[in-house]
Amino acid sequence: MDLSVVFYGTGGSVPTARRATACVLIRAGGERVLIDCGEGAQRQMIASTGLVQVDDILITHFHADHYLGLPGLLKTWDLQERQAPLRIAGPKGLRDLFEALRRIFGRIRYPVELVELGPGEALPGADGFELRAFEVEHRMRANGYTFVEHERPGRFDADLARELGVGDVRDFGRLQRGEAVAVERGEVHPDQVMGEPRRGRKIVVTGDTAPCEMTRIAAHQAELLVHDGTFAVEEAARAAETGHSTARQAAELAAAAEARMLALVHISTRYHVGRVLDEARAAFAEAHAVRDFDLVEIPFPERGEPRLVAGGASQQREGPEPESAAAIEGD
Ligand SMILES: [Zn+2]
Ligand SMILES: [Zn+2]
Repeated sequence: MDLSVVFYGTGGSVPTARRATACVLIRAGGERVLIDCGEGAQRQMIASTGLVQVDDILITHFHADHYLGLPGLLKTWDLQERQAPLRIAGPKGLRDLFEALRRIFGRIRYPVELVELGPGEALPGADGFELRAFEVEHRMRANGYTFVEHERPGRFDADLARELGVGDVRDFGRLQRGEAVAVERGEVHPDQVMGEPRRGRKIVVTGDTAPCEMTRIAAHQAELLVHDGTFAVEEAARAAETGHSTARQAAELAAAAEARMLALVHISTRYHVGRVLDEARAAFAEAHAVRDFDLVEIPFPERGEPRLVAGGASQQREGPEPESAAAIEGD
């Protein structure tokens, strides 16, 4: 399964000329999951990957910089005559928010399912992976989200199978599916020729949060941790007051969690990003201050480390071209 993360919005609180507010896309095989949907999310998509038809949108919390992009995106899909159902999940309060937003975007004709997720609850029906909410520490009820790919079966040892007398390649398939096969000297069982199951890849997106133990647990050995890095070290007190983190705290947490890569987002516009990043890298070398349209590719662990591709989102278009988006009539 191809697994990557696209950053559409890496800014905090307010958009700037170069950064939109919170919005991240997880691409897992054919599945598309958006986490947060800040203002202008649809323009960020159109400007890079194209307007991706996501299956699920997960909102971390109900501060405006994390959901203002919803009405526009939902309306555009309606104008494009989207048929596919859409699921939107978020903490308790999502239904109230959606009722309020409905006055803005009016009627939409494709099915929208709302799911309120409490801490520890998983989004039902995900295929090949699990999406689970965990509680973070912000000024309001807020979820972080963990994406975990299902465990993969261990490696099949064909040489050993042959040594044990399995000659037919169809029997190789049976063993890999967990069936025992008959050989001249009796039977060969899958556990004789299959290695240990291999851990699935993990991505954690915290949304806005103070550094907290729940994140450290959720992000244990994650391939990628996307964490709030709003403040510089000198404003640690202000970070604590406002339910945010310093980039340095996020880095310490990534190190404690043994994550492989840290993507810092939501960095306040008052700082020079390079300085904040230096503070973070002193604690965790694989810290990155990602920008809008960056992409992180996450190969299977045995094939290498997660890789940050600067501006990579624009090189992998998958939505309709801007011309066809412009051809929509009405409204
Ligand atoms: Zn925010
Ligand atoms: Zn917030």
